[in-house]
This record gives sequence, structure tokens and C-alpha cells, in this order.
Amino acid sequence: MSKKKKNDREEIELPYPWQRIQGALWLLGLAVIAWQDWWWPGILVLAAISGLTQAALQLYFSRQEEAKTAVNEQTRLQQERSAWLPSVCPNCGGPLSVATVNWTGPDTADCPYCKANLKKPA
Ligand SMILES: [Zn+2]
Repeated sequence: MSKKKKNDREEIELPYPWQRIQGALWLLGLAVIAWQDWWWPGILVLAAISGLTQAALQLYFSRQEEAKTAVNEQTRLQQERSAWLPSVCPNCGGPLSVATVNWTGPDTADCPYCKANLKKPA
């Protein structure tokens, strides 16, 4: 199992409705600028607003993406642990579960009763 950490964060594509909203914002901004006859520096203001909203949305969606990945990782780890964790402690016979043992690492845990070290079988 590789534990490569995802460092390279790729540009997040905004969901389609948001792209539409961005486009609509641009059109609205252009309309206001044309109506007010405020091309300069109005066009710069519009570009800045558009950039800011896009950055904010991308930040928001990348956060969501990260949270989802973290939850998936947690679930996967739980399943993997429950697959090899014995139901009773081989040392003291106490009942064990993924939730009650003290996890000391991804594949190691301590029995909550006798502190015996439990390890994922190789
Ligand atoms: Zn024990």
C-alpha cells in the first residue's frame, strides 16, 4: 500500500452552474458598464470582481473535495482495520472492536484492557 500524499493540488473545475453564473456576471457587468459609459476603469473593476468570485468559489469547492477525500480515507481505514482486528484480545480475552482499542498507528493498536500490542498480521 502506497502512502503517497497528494501535494500537487490541481485546478478545480467549477461545477457547470457556477460557470454559467460567472458568465452571467460578466454579461451583467458589461451591461452596467455600457449603460454607465464607464469602460475605463470599469472593465478593470469587473475583471477584478470576476477573479475574486472565481477564486473564492474554487477555494470553497477544493475544501469540499478535501473533506470528502478525508472521509473516504477514514472509512477505508476503518474497514481495513476491522478486517484484521481479532474480536477478542489474544492476551487477555477481552472483547475488541475498532472503536474501543487504542490505535497507535495505522496498523497497530493497544488492547484497552491489558495494553497488549495488537498488530496487523503480515
Ligand atoms: Zn488484552
